[in-house]
Amino acid sequence: MYDFHDSGELNRFRSVFPKGVFVLIDTSASQKTKGEVLIRRDSKRNSFIIGSSHRAVTMEQIQVMGVKGLPLIHAGDNIVAMICERMQLQDGDILCIASTIYSKAKGYTKSLASITPSERAQRLANLNGEDPRFVQAVLDASADIIMEHPFILSELSFGHIGVRAGVDQSNIEDGMLIFLPPDPMHAAQELRDRIKKIVSRDVGVIITDTCGRSFRRGQTGNAIGWSGFCAIRDFRGDTDLFGHVLKITEEAVVDEIAGFANFVMGESDNGVPAVVFRNCPKWSGHDNLYFRNEEDITKRVLKKEWCH
Ligand code: GDP
Ligand code: MN
Ligand code: MN
Repeated sequence: MYDFHDSGELNRFRSVFPKGVFVLIDTSASQKTKGEVLIRRDSKRNSFIIGSSHRAVTMEQIQVMGVKGLPLIHAGDNIVAMICERMQLQDGDILCIASTIYSKAKGYTKSLASITPSERAQRLANLNGEDPRFVQAVLDASADIIMEHPFILSELSFGHIGVRAGVDQSNIEDGMLIFLPPDPMHAAQELRDRIKKIVSRDVGVIITDTCGRSFRRGQTGNAIGWSGFCAIRDFRGDTDLFGHVLKITEEAVVDEIAGFANFVMGESDNGVPAVVFRNCPKWSGHDNLYFRNEEDITKRVLKKEWCH
C-alpha cells in the first residue's frame, strides 16, 4: 500500500500505468477529511487497494518494549527516573505504566489491619463472602456503588467504573491493599512532565489497570489516565473505502494501547510494570472516554436491579 500526499503525486503515480486499470474512489464527501483511495482492478475485476491518502496508517513498524529490571516499588520511589535509567525514551514514544506501581510509589496503599468495617461493609462482606475490612476499603475508594452483589461494582470519582473499585491485593505484601490513584489524569500529566525534565523527551503517558468487562470472560488492560494525546480517535464524519460517511465510530485508542501493554506486562510475577510503544501513528479526536450518566444505559439498569 502506498500513501500519496497530494493529487499531484497521485497523478504522477497513475500516469506511469496504462489507463483503465486503476479506479480512484473519491471519498471527499466529508468536510473533515478529504480522502482518496486508489484501487487496481485486474482482468477478472478483482479489486486491490494500492493507495490511500488517509494518513492514519503508519508505514513504520510499531515497536513494543517491556521495561525490564525494575525493582519492587515502594513509597517515595522515583519511578520515572527508574524507568529512564533502563529505557532510552525517544520523542513520540508512548509509555504505559501499571497503576499498581504508580500507587505504590505514591503510597496509595493501606494495611487491612488498620481498617474498621462499617455496618454496610459487614453486610456486603457476608453477602459476597469477602473480608469486611477489604469491603470497607472498596467502599472508601468508591464515589458510587453501581452493584452490590455478586461483587461490588464501583464508580470512582474520576469517572472509571471498576470491579471492587480497582482495589488490589496482588503484587504487594500480605495483608496490604493497593488503591487506584485518585486522579489518574493528573498522575499521567505529572509523569509526562517529569520525563520531560529528566531526559528532555516528549513522551505520551498512559496509566493502565487490568479490568474485568461486561459480556466477555477475561480481563484486559484499560487506560485510566493519559497525557500527550486524546483518548479517542474520532472517525465520525470520515468516509470508508466506498465513500460511506461513518456516523458512530469512535475508537478508544488509549484502551487499545493499554490492552496490549497489559499483555506485555502480564498479571503475576513478570515484574514488567512499564511498556514503551514506538512509531505509533498520531490520531485526533477527543477525551470524553467515560459516558455521561444519562448516556450509560448499562449503569442505569445495573443500579436499579442490583443496588439496594
Ligand atoms: P495492575 O494491572 O496495575 O493492577 O498491576 P499488576 O499487579 O497486574 O502488575 C502489572 C505488572 O507489573 C506485572 O508484570 C507485575 O509483576 C509487575 N509489578 C507489579 N508491581 C511491581 C513492582 O513493584 N516492581 C516490578 N518490577 N514489577 C511490578
Ligand atoms: Mn489493578
Ligand atoms: Mn494487571
